[in-house]
Amino acid sequence: MRAKSIHVTGVVQGVGFRPFVYTLARRLAIHGWVRNTSAGVDIHAEGTPEAVASFLAALTNEAPPLARIDRVSEQDAAPEDFTAFEIRESAAVENAFQPISPDMAVCADCLRELRDPADRRYRYPFINCTNCGPRFTLIKDIPYDRPLTTMAVFPMCDACAAEYHDPADRRFHAQPVACPACGPQVWLEHGGDTINGDAAVRSAAEMLRAGKILAIKGLGGFHLACDATNPEAVSELRRRKGRAAKPFALMMRTLDVIRETCIVSEQEARLLISPAAPIVLLRRLQAGNGRIAPDVAPGQNTLGVMLPYTPLHVLIMEDEGGMPPLVMTSGNRSEEPIVTDNDAARDQLGELADAFLMHNREIYIRTDDSVMRVHGERELPIRRSRGYAPYPVKLPFESLPILAVGGEMKNTFCVTRDDYAFMSHHIGDMENYETIQSFESGIAHFERLFRITPEVIAYDLHPDYRATRYAVARAQAGGIPAVAVQHHHAHIASVMAEHGHPGDRPVIGVCFDGTGYGTDGTIWGGEFLIADYAGFQRPAFLKPVRLPGGDAATRKPARIAYSYLIASGEVPDGELAALSAVEQKTLRTQIERGLNSPYTSSMGRLFDAVSSLIGVCQTTSYEGQAAIELEAVVDPHETGLYPFERDGQQIDSAPVIQAVLADVRAGIPAGVIAARFHNSVAAMIHEICARLGAISGLREVALSGGVFQNVTLLGKTIPLLGDAGFTVYTHQLVPPNDGGLALGQAVIAAVTQKEERADAKSR
Ligand code: ZN
Ligand code: ZN
Ligand code: FE
Repeated sequence: MRAKSIHVTGVVQGVGFRPFVYTLARRLAIHGWVRNTSAGVDIHAEGTPEAVASFLAALTNEAPPLARIDRVSEQDAAPEDFTAFEIRESAAVENAFQPISPDMAVCADCLRELRDPADRRYRYPFINCTNCGPRFTLIKDIPYDRPLTTMAVFPMCDACAAEYHDPADRRFHAQPVACPACGPQVWLEHGGDTINGDAAVRSAAEMLRAGKILAIKGLGGFHLACDATNPEAVSELRRRKGRAAKPFALMMRTLDVIRETCIVSEQEARLLISPAAPIVLLRRLQAGNGRIAPDVAPGQNTLGVMLPYTPLHVLIMEDEGGMPPLVMTSGNRSEEPIVTDNDAARDQLGELADAFLMHNREIYIRTDDSVMRVHGERELPIRRSRGYAPYPVKLPFESLPILAVGGEMKNTFCVTRDDYAFMSHHIGDMENYETIQSFESGIAHFERLFRITPEVIAYDLHPDYRATRYAVARAQAGGIPAVAVQHHHAHIASVMAEHGHPGDRPVIGVCFDGTGYGTDGTIWGGEFLIADYAGFQRPAFLKPVRLPGGDAATRKPARIAYSYLIASGEVPDGELAALSAVEQKTLRTQIERGLNSPYTSSMGRLFDAVSSLIGVCQTTSYEGQAAIELEAVVDPHETGLYPFERDGQQIDSAPVIQAVLADVRAGIPAGVIAARFHNSVAAMIHEICARLGAISGLREVALSGGVFQNVTLLGKTIPLLGDAGFTVYTHQLVPPNDGGLALGQAVIAAVTQKEERADAKSR
């Protein structure tokens, strides 16, 4: 007889881990017990030495699908001669914490029941089990138990309670377990009428088919939905939302339906059907283009598509043999956070939606749909939220408790504890009161949920970021250190950290984005850094060019193009038709005198300039639009390129601009020029990295910043760097855009504060 005391940490609660342990113990004739603690799962196991060994191995090898085990620690214990294996009451451990599962798409077993007329949950829109359903969005606190979720208001009926308490049942301790008799209900509000239950779902589907716009309450917030194959409906949605060009996401019924419109690689298919069920940006099939209304994604060669991920979505998509693809865009007013509350929906979406498909399961934390791209075999997060948050990123070292507040656009924040970095759900652009509220309440929630009291606050160097102001004020009020982190340093540290880089040696960081505050007070964004977590140097960067009108120039890329032309000694001759003669004259004065025209080394702005110069994009209504549309027209077969010029530390784009202009004048197609430009940037990265590698001896390159959302550029750059013998790190867990910034801020603050404290001690 041997006995072991075992402690398991990771995402092990609310994912069917205890029933799994119970079943396993019975199979292997192990006696003892298992229980949840707020720090993980504790097990006492006794049996023959062989049985105990098999038990320990199977704990990790056979764990249920949603469990994520970080650590199994075990020690010998005294046998207590148990005669059975039992599941014990949860034990609270003071100040302990544990990771929480994200919300997960409805599982195959629940789907089968949903479609089975004999099942008591037939067509029940809130069917779930321990392997699927809501988690993060309804958890108010830990331990994860029903009274601490938004399901607390739905007392279980006898049938549900029996399943909930039966260790052999798939719904054992599934906190959101519910059925039509005891659980949340769905209804449709249309004009003054209310339709309840299944008829609500069927009527909603009917209205969608008839071209209406519906607000549909989902897992992490409301969507606005309409038939994506109905051009009038889609244009009307654009008009009502006041959204000019930013692409809408789509929901399609099955992978086969998606394949009618898009090219889906094996890796992309895996992502689409994964429990996280993100929006995946897929290349459009030429043949399928006719079906989806052009207004869904103007100027794009990709579509953002997801599969139905809640039972309610499934019921809608499967209505009458199959709903056409639906637009499913965040239910919000312009740039405000996604609406989660029924009253707020009536109030804020009333003008946008013809009807509301509502339910009474409260959403405690909003999460937007996540957006992913795939390049080669690798995943590239564009927005990390539903299905991913709040999975932690494992850090390569133990960290102080830190709060990193992130940036201004696409904000996310991060809190650290031990070797975990908990990256928040997508907060959004910090430009209105509602988003800032969501930011502040989100921080309070994460600190409570993971029992973290920050001892350091990290923030971006930019003095005007709203997150910066929050950080400085809070650090001051709390009397704790605040660490300002340079924007591009944070990007590079972020990609290093997600790869578990220990930071014991610097890497060559290539950080290309739209804008970030430099240590010299100018705007950076085309940076080569030699960086570790503790610090960085800036050995090379794009030669700064004036940005007439500051950041506002990005709305009219022709203004940026004009500035680049002047900097290159060129005079536009009809190429910039988007600018009147008067505008050009004003711009010239503005640039020459430096009036409200800060210098920037931004690579994003160079993409904007080229996009305008070749006639691809002249006005933008969302961040990165000109660059995204430039990528979309790239001719994949073109191999030509233009030369950048190196002048000391500065990389001069003038020869590239001159060559682009010459090609435009020679009538070369935009797709060819766009390809040559992408090739030029890739070649320049390769050349500069090779040079920096030769000087420094460094063999690792980290790519980060919003420009690296561009998979065409990644696809051209990575092989060049690989052939040159570099190890290349790209983002796979957090976004390369400012949505990943907080992770980098956190690790930089962790390392610099540790050094500071060590210094203080030795003094
Ligand atoms: Zn399920
Ligand atoms: Zn029930
Ligand atoms: Fe950035």
